[in-house]
Amino acid sequence: MRIVLLALALVATAASPSLAQTPEPFWPGAQYDTKIPTLEQVVGHASGDKVTTPEQIATYLRALAQAAPDRTRLTEYARTWEGRPLWLFVVGSAERIAKLDHVKADIKRLADPRGLAPAEVTRLVASAPVVVWLVHGVHGNEISSGDAALLEAYHLLAARGDAGVDAVLRDALVLIDPMQNPDGRARFIFQNLQGQAAAPDPAPYNAEHDEPWPGGRSNHYLFDMNRDWFAQTQPETRGRIQIALDYFPHVNVDLHEQGGNNSYYFAPPADPLNPHYTKAQIAGFELFGRANAARFDERGWAYYVREVYDGFYPGYGDSWPMLHGSIGMTYEQPSARALSFARTDGTVMTFRDGVLHHFNAAITTAITAARNRERLVRDFVDYRRSAVAEGEQGAVREYVLVPGHDPSRADALARNLATQGIEVRRAESALTIGTRTIPAGAYLVSNAQPAGRLVRNLLDLDTKQDAAFIARQEERRKRRQADQIYDITGWSLPLVYDVEVVTSPAAITAQASRVPADYAAASPARALAAARVGYLVPWGVAAAALTADAVTQGLRVHSVGGTFTLGGRSYPIGTALVRTAGNPADLAARLSALAATHGAEVVPIDSAYVESGTSLGSNATGFVKAPRVLLAWDAPTSTLSAGWTRWVLERRFGQAVTAVRTASLSRVDFSRYDVVVLPSGNYAGQIGDGVLTRLKDWIRLGGTLVTLADATRWASTAAAGLLDTNALLKDGRPDVPATTGPAAKVDAKTPDPADLAYDKAIQPDRERPDAQPGALLRATVDTDHWLSAGSDAETQVVIEGSRVFAPIKLNAGRNVVYYAPKPSLVASGLIWPEGQDLLVRKAYLMHQPMGQGHVIGFAEEPTYRGYTEATMLLFMNAVLLGPAY
Ligand SMILES: [Zn+2]
Repeated sequence: MRIVLLALALVATAASPSLAQTPEPFWPGAQYDTKIPTLEQVVGHASGDKVTTPEQIATYLRALAQAAPDRTRLTEYARTWEGRPLWLFVVGSAERIAKLDHVKADIKRLADPRGLAPAEVTRLVASAPVVVWLVHGVHGNEISSGDAALLEAYHLLAARGDAGVDAVLRDALVLIDPMQNPDGRARFIFQNLQGQAAAPDPAPYNAEHDEPWPGGRSNHYLFDMNRDWFAQTQPETRGRIQIALDYFPHVNVDLHEQGGNNSYYFAPPADPLNPHYTKAQIAGFELFGRANAARFDERGWAYYVREVYDGFYPGYGDSWPMLHGSIGMTYEQPSARALSFARTDGTVMTFRDGVLHHFNAAITTAITAARNRERLVRDFVDYRRSAVAEGEQGAVREYVLVPGHDPSRADALARNLATQGIEVRRAESALTIGTRTIPAGAYLVSNAQPAGRLVRNLLDLDTKQDAAFIARQEERRKRRQADQIYDITGWSLPLVYDVEVVTSPAAITAQASRVPADYAAASPARALAAARVGYLVPWGVAAAALTADAVTQGLRVHSVGGTFTLGGRSYPIGTALVRTAGNPADLAARLSALAATHGAEVVPIDSAYVESGTSLGSNATGFVKAPRVLLAWDAPTSTLSAGWTRWVLERRFGQAVTAVRTASLSRVDFSRYDVVVLPSGNYAGQIGDGVLTRLKDWIRLGGTLVTLADATRWASTAAAGLLDTNALLKDGRPDVPATTGPAAKVDAKTPDPADLAYDKAIQPDRERPDAQPGALLRATVDTDHWLSAGSDAETQVVIEGSRVFAPIKLNAGRNVVYYAPKPSLVASGLIWPEGQDLLVRKAYLMHQPMGQGHVIGFAEEPTYRGYTEATMLLFMNAVLLGPAY
């Protein structure tokens, strides 16, 4: 209240008169049971007066659970990287909470209707509650939803004589996740308190609103967890996936905040929708949208629908549950990003307004779900049943994941699918599909399963956007209007893991075992024979992880710099050699433990005499030392690029890294490091001549510099002088200062229809390529280079944005990976047509030797969202093998 009056006073002095009024009640007419404690009674401030900290949220939930133990269940479902607990607060009738396990078992039976008798379905539908999952604050700086969550819990427990709440307790089970990202929320609150003025200052650029790098949006590793659902790279996401598979919510709402000048957004979502959403789900958007609209109209609040927030990418907090049969929705409140915010319309919005709006939308959703219980539960059963039927009738009945040259990738893909509720089998014998024979160990994924629509989203090579929507975007582009594509357009997992998929039109009856959700590796650890010469580890994703671990432990590992044949088997370039000589006596035991941990193959050898190719003692063999890695951190790096890269190094491959704030690079003694990684960012203003000179001297003495995306653009500028390539303009000319480019010629004699002349006249002379929303390109790999070790001749890469690099010339270096010719260029998703012409045969991964060291430039992000396993290996090759060669 104090805050609201203050805010109004500030507005009045800013000359836009507002009507002074008392704060709007959270729920007009509500009568509350005084035995249920309010937030103020437990933590000392009322709802909306302060941003409640993660610790206070836990304290209050415990107090609520203690006050109403019969109607609640509070559990910790995961821990963040920084050690903060994630909470699930379940609210239901006393009768349901008492037999919660039984209720969950019934819901799970409905989630797999195969083999359920119609009478049994009828009985289960009649008794099951509608499960409503309200998840809040996946972005930690979107603060109001966490406080709304507490008010939702209080209202459902304390409201008396409220028909809506009675309906919810009778017919629903409400799962409240108050904060999906406690680390980000804590980071926001910490810096917000530091920036606070004596009285809350609504000026949007005041320090309390203006977050320093990296901001509170992301988690500890700076991931956007609203893009992580199918990738499941973060512990927070993995915990939520378990809840989804434990309760199979019928309705879920992901409550966010957006820019402070908007009005409230709720479903129905914007185009394009994922093509696998069903009619009943789309009707569900309408049901909840109209109910929320009625509530907002009643209270006089502005809102919008069907704009901005689409439903296409399957890794959001709303779309992933949809593909298991839920009705998933995103709600967005304009953010005060502190306690008050001056909007451009002259009003001041408060943090409390955010709590008020989210609370009303969430409770209205729960009441609407309860009042439509039977329809929603039945729709869910129909969804799961029709997914099986669609799979039985579709052109693709089964997907076969072929182990190929690096079986650890298929293992990892099978594990990813199995942990998110998809049935995966491992074939115990060889398969014949058409004319193709596939060896034992392939993974089988049937389309005819209740999660079949999720299967199609993840395993189909392409998921199509609506053609009319794309045509509208082309029209906008012609007028230089921003496109309306909200996220990337291609993500197919077999492509980003580079695992071959063979499809079968018929069910496969081969003997196969079900892959469990906690699947570790294809073959259990087996003791390795003691080998006279040593052990070979054929290179691949798991081999790189094993090697990083081995060299950290002090084992001596070499990398064979060419292909060879030994004992009748051919080995790829980069194969690791661990010699018996020079390593500890217990080498066999240690390597078998490492093989089990990382799922890599280790081959004992008693002779080093190769039948053909590079000798194991060749000069072309490098010594793999435990690399000392420096990662640039802080502005101007992109938070996502820096975070993905750090996570891949530290957590995916166990490689220690020193993260150094870019402002401190001038103090670094580079000779203490073997590898320097510059995440995406423009370093022009940050790395001055002094640091640059020292960096180049260090490279010449054997250092490995790895640049990613926009850092590669910077490295290729004349001022940086690190890579002999150029970023290109839209017309293919190099993006260098304008004076060196030819000026556009005006030919006055050419007769030209007036509008064509006009059209020509308004075209800019120099323009970067139109930004690509994000898609997968096919790329050619130079397999005769250690940077490509573990890859075959073709792979797929994520590209996003407007970077296009000319291939590096032979006298400067090599293009280890470059984009495919036009007919095969686009592997998945949307690339603007003229962009395709420009991208053909341009560089993706460049290697330029400098003295005894290397400059390695990636045109894009090789660790994109933590799930691009194929290009992640190229990045790890740069880090692990760069210092070896
Ligand atoms: Zn958000």
